[in-house]
Amino acid sequence: MSAAKFSSSSAPPAAPASVRVRAPGKINASLRVGPLRPDGYHGVASVYLAVSLFEEVQATATEAPGITVTVDSDGPLHIPVADIPLGPDNLAARAAQALAGYAENPTGVHLHITKRVPVAGGMGGGSADAAAALVACDALWNTHLSREELAGIAAGLGADVPFSLLGGTAVGLGVGDRLTPAISKTPLHWVLVASDSGLSTPAVYGALDALRAEAQEQAEEPAEVDPAVLAAMRSGNARELAAVISNDLQAAALRLAPELADLLSTGERLGALAGMVSGSGPTVAFLAEDAGAAGKLEAALRGGGHRALAVEGPAPGARLLPAVVG
Ligand code: ATP
Repeated sequence: MSAAKFSSSSAPPAAPASVRVRAPGKINASLRVGPLRPDGYHGVASVYLAVSLFEEVQATATEAPGITVTVDSDGPLHIPVADIPLGPDNLAARAAQALAGYAENPTGVHLHITKRVPVAGGMGGGSADAAAALVACDALWNTHLSREELAGIAAGLGADVPFSLLGGTAVGLGVGDRLTPAISKTPLHWVLVASDSGLSTPAVYGALDALRAEAQEQAEEPAEVDPAVLAAMRSGNARELAAVISNDLQAAALRLAPELADLLSTGERLGALAGMVSGSGPTVAFLAEDAGAAGKLEAALRGGGHRALAVEGPAPGARLLPAVVG
């Protein structure tokens, strides 16, 4: 009996006309921030955790050249999208533009972003859009870059973009872009609370510098993350982690948005093991004992009029979604 024959062709597979990618928002279980550097940045030592709140980007090839963007939002956090730039400043458009330089024949592309991560919320939502757009255009344009090459382009787009590409749990050094994956037992349960207005990340870093100057505090360049945080993530013990989560930007975010102090104590009164401002804020992340406790806390916070959502982490990084049939 002869072996079955399969037809083969040397031509590369045709690029799809439209692809969808989802990429996670993040929280920082620990964030140490160094002094303002001469280049205008701050060094950080961060324990990133990707959570199950995903941005989605659909990239569709267009006959007309160029990059166009539309944005809407869905999901329980009701993210307002009116202030998001739709031109070349949109982080997803910047990502597509950067990737086009690596494609042989990039078509025009329309990027439709479905936002679920709070805008200017300290959860890297725009960075997730950029990571999703990189993966989407890589598939649309058949560029087939490696994850390392995509990460290199991501780092040029923003400090949090490489992490949204990677997902999971990672230590971030440098400006947050030098990543080392870390071990974390799945899942840790958190409840996010979105704020009605955002905080500008540079303004929060500026407020931190001002607070330190007022206190005559000499910050040091952070060389490593708190090992106790990594140990707690590794064991997956929420109580252990609750005792050690910390964020150097929290006091600065509270100075700019003092109402967050009440929210933090409300969440803890309602049963959170601990609460913290996520990154530069103003989104607050509460750590819960388990899924049941997170569900109860979400309900109690919603009952109090808050836009709350239970999520878990670690969650995977930017990934293609199956094609929609029909
Ligand atoms: P960071 O990554 O600095 O923590 P963030 O999560 O606080 O940022 P983002 O939602 O990423 O905040 O957006 C910050 C600003 O970037 C917004 O105010 C908006 O003007 C601009 N921006 C550009 N592209 C996007 C995008 N695709 N989604 C959201 N904001 C965008």
